[in-house]
Amino acid sequence: MSDKLTPQTIVPFLADIFERRGGEEYLGEPVTMAEHMLQGAALAERGGMPERIIVAALLHDIGHFTSEFGTYHPDDTHDRHHEEAGAEVLEEFFPTVVTDCVRHHVAAKRYLCATKPEYFKRLSIASVHSLNLQGGPMSAEEVAEFEHNPNLEEIVQVRYLDDAGKHADMETPGFSHFAPMVQRVVDAHCGVH
Ligand code: FE
Repeated sequence: MSDKLTPQTIVPFLADIFERRGGEEYLGEPVTMAEHMLQGAALAERGGMPERIIVAALLHDIGHFTSEFGTYHPDDTHDRHHEEAGAEVLEEFFPTVVTDCVRHHVAAKRYLCATKPEYFKRLSIASVHSLNLQGGPMSAEEVAEFEHNPNLEEIVQVRYLDDAGKHADMETPGFSHFAPMVQRVVDAHCGVH
């Protein structure tokens, strides 16, 4: 249960989810859930991006596993909710910039489709399909409101990493490689020294 998790146990808890559940299918993509998230994190690390971006990419789809946190809702299986559910289970331990990247990674796709004409072409077939279920490109009003988020730049970066992390044959380090970094972000947020 998430209310029993602490800054000392959250990272091993997340590692365990990757270990036990990471092999599950990422619907319609040629990668497992763990491969998808590890690829995004590895690409961010290779690109020299800040730890908050690497960690956000690593955890952006954790909402697919919220039943593990004991906060299950019947709606969790619906794609429109995994991003909100993921942000909710992380927000006790991670800074807003990380949870915003998780919470808005689906909205960011709708945002980029509305504002960057070339963006749509990089989406996978499964992602185009889910875009339609998610409401299609944002309206001008939605774009204006989305741009008010102070973490817009990070949110967009993580969205690009989400789209990039779908390679059938990419080698990445495992979760354990990123665990010390995740712990640093948690400790900085929770005031653990
Ligand atoms: Fe994703």
